[in-house]
Amino acid sequence: MANPLYDRLFGLHAGKDTPFLILPDGRTITHDAFLRMAARFAHALIGAGLEPGDRVAAQVPKSPEALALYAAAAQAGIVFLPLNTAYTPAEVSYFVENSGAKLLIASPGAPLEPVAAAAGARLMTLGALGDGSFAEAASGAPETFATVARAADDLAAFLYTSGTTGRSKGAMLTHANLLSNAEVLAECWRFTAADRLIHALPIFHTHGLFVATNIVALTGGAMLFMEKFDAQEALRLMPQATAMMGVPTFYTRLLDEPGLTREATAHMRLFVSGSAPLLAETHRAFEARTGQRILERYGMTETNMNTSNPFEGERRAGTVGFPLPGVELKITDPETGATLPQGEVGVIEVRGPNVFKGYWGMPEKTKEELRADGFFITGDLGLIDADGYVQIVGRGKDLIISGGFNVYPKEVELALDAQPGVLESAVVGAPHPDFGEAVVGVIVPAPGAAPDLAAIEAALGATLARYKQPKRLLLRAELPRNTMGKVQKALLREEVKGLFAAAPAAGA
Ligand code: AMP
Repeated sequence: MANPLYDRLFGLHAGKDTPFLILPDGRTITHDAFLRMAARFAHALIGAGLEPGDRVAAQVPKSPEALALYAAAAQAGIVFLPLNTAYTPAEVSYFVENSGAKLLIASPGAPLEPVAAAAGARLMTLGALGDGSFAEAASGAPETFATVARAADDLAAFLYTSGTTGRSKGAMLTHANLLSNAEVLAECWRFTAADRLIHALPIFHTHGLFVATNIVALTGGAMLFMEKFDAQEALRLMPQATAMMGVPTFYTRLLDEPGLTREATAHMRLFVSGSAPLLAETHRAFEARTGQRILERYGMTETNMNTSNPFEGERRAGTVGFPLPGVELKITDPETGATLPQGEVGVIEVRGPNVFKGYWGMPEKTKEELRADGFFITGDLGLIDADGYVQIVGRGKDLIISGGFNVYPKEVELALDAQPGVLESAVVGAPHPDFGEAVVGVIVPAPGAAPDLAAIEAALGATLARYKQPKRLLLRAELPRNTMGKVQKALLREEVKGLFAAAPAAGA
C-alpha cells in the first residue's frame, strides 16, 4: 500500500458525496469536499518548505479545516503534531523546539511569533472560520495531490504526554499504530457508513483525533462536529445521531439535564466513555435514565486503545473490559516485572500493533517504559478479574485527570515552588463532581513569609494551561512525609477529598 493511513482513512472516499462533517449551523462537508480541502492543504504544506518526515505543529481551534490539516499531513507524508489549545506560549515553545517542527500553525492573532522565531520555525495561521495565512496559501492550490508513499512503520503523528518530571515526551505513532487500532475498534464497535457520531471532543488528543475521527473516516460515516461539548446541544443532536464518544464529564453533565430520557436517546446505538475512570454510579444512573449501557474503554497517548467492554455481552460498570483483538495485556509486579496471577493488583503492561515506537529523542525514557520484548509499561495499576475484565484501580504515575485532561503534579509543584514566599508544595487531585478530579495545591510558606494566594493564582494563570491550575490553594505548616522523606500524597488526598463534595446528579 502506498500510504497506509491516508489511503484507508481518506483516499478511499474520493468522489463520495455523502456527508463527512455536519456542522452546528447545518453546513455539510462531504467526504469528497473534505479530501479536496486536504489536498489543497497538502500543497500548502509542501509550499511552506516541508518534506516527508518533517513535523508540522498545530495549535489551532477545532474546525473542519483543522481536521483537514491532519489528513493533509498524512497525504504529504508529514508528521502531524497537534497541540492543546490551552497551552501557553511557553509550553508551545517547548513542543516546537523539542520536535524540531519546521512549521507552526497557530490561531490568527496568537502571540507566537517569538516562539516560532526562537525555534527557527515558520509561523502560519489557521482560524476557526477557515481564515488565516495558511488557508490563504492553500486557496488557489490544486484540489488533487499526489499522495506521498509511506511504509507502515513510518511516523504519522507525535502526541506529547506530560512528563512526571515536568518534561513532556513526544510519543511517536506510526501509520500502522493508528490504522490497526481504527480497524479493530470499528469492527468491535460495529461502525458502518450509516453511523453519525456526535463529536464534541478536542482534536488534539488521542480520543477525539484518533479514536473518534479515524473510526468514522475509515468506515465512511459522518460526524456531527461540535466545537465543544454542550449537554443541551448534544441532546438536540441525538435524534439525528447514532453514537457518541465522551469523557466521563460528558455523562455527568448529561445526567444533570432533565431532557436526558429514554426517548431522547432512542436513536442512539452506542455511548462510549474513556480517558478517565467512569464511576460505576454514573454508569448505572445513565442506564436508569436512558436504558443505554455506556461502553467503557481504556487507552492512552502511547498505545491508542487497549481494552474495551464488549459491544455484545455484558458491559460491566467499573471495568474497562477485555484486551482488544491483537492486544496482549498482563499485570506485573512493579518491582520485579514478573507476571502476577489473575485477580492481583499490579502494573498494566500492553503489547500489540497499537503500541507506539518510542519517545522522540529520548531513548533512555523509551527504554524505561518500553521493554525490549515490546511490552509497554503503562504505569496504570490494575487487575484482571475472574471473568477476564480489566479493572483500573489506581495510577502509579500520580497523574491527576481533570475534565479528561492529564495533569502531572510535578509540573504544577514546580510552578508553585517558584512563587514568592513558597518554601515547597505538593499537588494532588480531589474528587470533583464536574471535572472528575480537580487540582489542589498545598503550600508550605517560607519561614516568616505569608504567601499571597491571590497573587500566586494570578501568576500561575499566566504560565500554566487553565486545566492545570489549582482550583484550590491551601496553606500548611509542613507536608506529611514518611521516614524516607517522601511526601505522603495519599494522606493529602484523604485530607482534600471532601473539598468539592458532590451534590447528587439530578435523577441519579
Ligand atoms: P492520555 O494519554 O491522555 O490518553 O491518558 C491516559 C491515561 O488515562 C491512562 O494511562 C489512564 O491512567 C487513564 N485512562 C484512560 N482511560 C481510562 C479509563 N477508562 N478508566 C480509567 N483511567 C483511564
